[in-house]
Amino acid sequence: MLYEHRLLKEQAEIFFSRFWEGGKYVLGEEVEGFEKKWAAFCNTRFAVGTGSGLDALYIALKVAGIGAGDEVIVPSNTYIATVLAVMNVGATPVFAEPDPHTYNLNLAGIKPEYSAKTKAIIPVHLYGLCADMDGIMHWANENNLLVIEDFAQAHGARIGTRRAGSFGHINAGSFYPTKNLGAVGEAGIINTNHEEYARQAILYRNYGSQTKYVNRSIGINSRLDALQAGILSLKLGHLEEWNQIRILLADTYTRLLAPHESIIPPFTPDGFTHVYHRYIIRTDRRNELAKYLHEKGVGTDVHYPIPPFLQESLIGLGYAPGSFPIAEELAGTMLSLPLYPGLTVPEVEYVCGCINSFLRG
Ligand SMILES: *Cc1c(COP(=O)(O)O)cnc(C)c1O
Repeated sequence: MLYEHRLLKEQAEIFFSRFWEGGKYVLGEEVEGFEKKWAAFCNTRFAVGTGSGLDALYIALKVAGIGAGDEVIVPSNTYIATVLAVMNVGATPVFAEPDPHTYNLNLAGIKPEYSAKTKAIIPVHLYGLCADMDGIMHWANENNLLVIEDFAQAHGARIGTRRAGSFGHINAGSFYPTKNLGAVGEAGIINTNHEEYARQAILYRNYGSQTKYVNRSIGINSRLDALQAGILSLKLGHLEEWNQIRILLADTYTRLLAPHESIIPPFTPDGFTHVYHRYIIRTDRRNELAKYLHEKGVGTDVHYPIPPFLQESLIGLGYAPGSFPIAEELAGTMLSLPLYPGLTVPEVEYVCGCINSFLRG
């Protein structure tokens, strides 16, 4: 059982029995309650629950009027969902290289991809660290571009006191079970300070309908259900504490791995709070190290082994190896070490000990 679920078992059981005995199963008070708590946590005026993170991105693009003929700048190293959301509204994803230290979009990567067709930018706060939102928002506002944060991997992350999901014009998150705040099924959220975007998103996720059986606009079914919302409300009260555990474990890794020049640890710019959705090191001997750790009983992963522009499904976009060298370099050298709130400091010490013996040969 997940550490988080062991911790909240009794409270979850009380919620489940209340849920089982009756009430509303889709949308309703439970969902509205969670949306209010989440909006308050992120300090945005509105939060609108959706069926998944992909849908949250898709609906955000839709209500902002992005569609055929528009270009949307996305990171060349993002997870496929960011790209598919753009394609699903009929727009064209344009890849921009990330900063090689933070792994996130910045203006240096974005500006060369800007064209007369650019309508929006989707900075993705990969692995738990916010992109340079001050720089991006300033330049985007000057150029009349919409900014949609993809904060699926950065719940609770901050720049100064401001949280991921509160910088862009309309922003999208996911509560897939493995995220820092995870449901027990599919769930997503849209954050915005713009009343009109929130109003349209509320309609769009529910068949374009506000009053039952009256449909004044087009929409889809991507409603958040009450079971997920109840569990998310329960877990949200512990998100800060769980992120603190992640930070402690990450700092332990970084300290213990510091003597190894061949290992590049994560980088956090001053004033940013990284919430370590993943703890990622880089090494030229990535595959060898992963195999060695596996033999020592340590599970690792690669986020992500193939950049989106080289995926077979996106071959139609016309990219080839060599198109985005930074993303390809990252895909070839990154390794995600174990990190989750139930992990202990001695376990991190064991992993680092294994890495030491690997590097000593
Ligand atoms: C998980 C994730 C998504 C998609 O969320 P789903 O809820 O799985 O649809 C989108 N973008 C990023 C960066 C993600 O990590």
